[in-house]
Amino acid sequence: AKQAGRNCSRYFLASMNQSLDERLNLESELRQALSAGQLQLHFQPKLALADARVLGMEVLLRWPHPVRGWVPPDRFIPVAEECGLINALDAWVLEAACRQLRDWAEAGLPGLQLSVNVSALRFVQDDVAAHVQQQLQRHGLQASQLTLEITERLMLDERGRPHEQLLALDAMGVRLSVDDFGTGYSSLSYLKRLPVSEIKLDKSFVRDLDSDPDDRALASAVISIGQALDLSVVAEGVETEAQRETLLRLGCRIGQGWLFGRPMDAQAMAQWLRSRER
Ligand code: C2E
Ligand code: CA
Ligand code: CA
Ligand code: CA
Repeated sequence: AKQAGRNCSRYFLASMNQSLDERLNLESELRQALSAGQLQLHFQPKLALADARVLGMEVLLRWPHPVRGWVPPDRFIPVAEECGLINALDAWVLEAACRQLRDWAEAGLPGLQLSVNVSALRFVQDDVAAHVQQQLQRHGLQASQLTLEITERLMLDERGRPHEQLLALDAMGVRLSVDDFGTGYSSLSYLKRLPVSEIKLDKSFVRDLDSDPDDRALASAVISIGQALDLSVVAEGVETEAQRETLLRLGCRIGQGWLFGRPMDAQAMAQWLRSRER
């Protein structure tokens, strides 16, 4: 038993070391990628579920790694949060997104709406509201063209710096969206006090909507909360026509997902938008 325990702990330590090494590699490679301009924005359309009208798009960060291939954000965002790189990373995304909006406007695609993900940590460590204001001004954009998607984690702390920034952003006219709604552990009372205008139904509730009655009940509850509080409810991960119909029946009017469009780069997105104008 003693022997087994020792092996076990050695194995455990080895795997921990490996993952620490791996993290350090990722961290330094991510820093390099950011400063070398190797990160990219992709865009996924957000549509009216009833008639597929385009309402906006979400900006999703992409890292094409020369050796690893595409590193998924679920892999590198947590690393960036742990090593303090998330502020620079999300600041870069915001600036690049605003620049893209302006370029599209100049190319004859004006008035588009963009949703940008911002790590809750950045609201604690950085002045997001000031940066947003600066970027909107610099690129000649309306505040109403921008939505910030924030996870519930941020809403837990209803005082202090993050809260003040949410109020400042709202006063500027920037929309605030609660991402992954219902997957956190937070109470709902913040919805009453904070200037939120949208909640996003996480794709984990949408996936088995038509086979799992529990998921349907939870999705329905989230949609009802949104309706009762006069918030937009956006369903994530809509992949099938059956899911679209069920969501509409439950009262959800907006969605995004592979059924309508995968995340695509800026050029493909512009083409996609133009092809729908006709
Ligand atoms: P999220 O904000 O919940 O984004 C939705 C995720 O669902 C995206 O994954 C998107 O590509 C994926 N998705 C979209 N449609 C479908 C579908 O029909 N089916 C399925 N199965 N998946 C779909 P992605 O791009 O891998 O991003 C993962 C997460 O990384 C995001 O989750 C977000 O939390 C984070 N993230 C992405 N970009 C940024 C960023 O610029 N800043 C920060 N802080 N986080 C980001
Ligand atoms: Ca999001
Ligand atoms: Ca989600
Ligand atoms: Ca998320």
